[in-house]
Amino acid sequence: MKASRREPAAFADAARRLSNRNLKPIPDGLRSTAVVIFGPPGAGKGTQTQKLSELFSVPRIATGEMIREEVRRRTEFGRRIEKGLAEGQFVDDETIFGMLERRLRREDLQRGLLLDGFPRTAPQARQLESVATQFGIEIRAFELKASREVLIRRLSGRRVCEKCGAVFHQESEPPRRENVCDDCGSELSIRDDDSAEVINPRLDIHDEATVPAIRELTQVLMRQGRKVEPIDAEQAPESVTRNLLERLRNE
Ligand code: AMP
Repeated sequence: MKASRREPAAFADAARRLSNRNLKPIPDGLRSTAVVIFGPPGAGKGTQTQKLSELFSVPRIATGEMIREEVRRRTEFGRRIEKGLAEGQFVDDETIFGMLERRLRREDLQRGLLLDGFPRTAPQARQLESVATQFGIEIRAFELKASREVLIRRLSGRRVCEKCGAVFHQESEPPRRENVCDDCGSELSIRDDDSAEVINPRLDIHDEATVPAIRELTQVLMRQGRKVEPIDAEQAPESVTRNLLERLRNE
């Protein structure tokens, strides 16, 4: 499905607002579009999808966050997957489908959505295609690219607030008070799967499982005359956002 004629103007507007540092939401900016942000751990998927979600008032679905929430709440599912998650292993496709389906039922997909961490495997990419076809929504996909060296540096310095979801970096974006969240004052922590010994295996798992997902979605998009668009994710987060907005605007 093609984007409506209104959208390019909305994106242009969003880019202007962003450069003016006025981040007012723009309703309907991503109408009927599922925007997928691919990228290895540490590439900035969370940061970018949060920003776009804020700019366009479009829901963001982050499967990793949904899973961590289950672990935090100590649900039966959370307890079952906790160990594997800390080792960087993926949750099985069936479980992810069920979780996503329940979540999608709550959303009005015609408003558009942002996907962070899904699809992560080839079957998940096929699942996304069938959801998109079923609901008549368009898929746009981007791949955030950064070298392993940069990713390792980012992941090993990452500190997160479990309470409000804010993310800091020990060197590049330290909190004002050591180990305390600037936004809500809670104590910051290191994600279990950001520990030094898990970072490299996680990056390997991404290459093994998610690269085929990107390939699969590329096939889907090629049939619509599109592709998964690469984005240089080694730049500052604001530049990456601007780049994404540019691409979204330029049909
Ligand atoms: P993230 O917050 O996206 O880095 O995800 C954290 C972890 O959650 C991943 O390392 C996986 O173990 C798991 N996870 C998140 N999304 C998926 C998915 N779509 N399929 C399988 N496992 C996932």
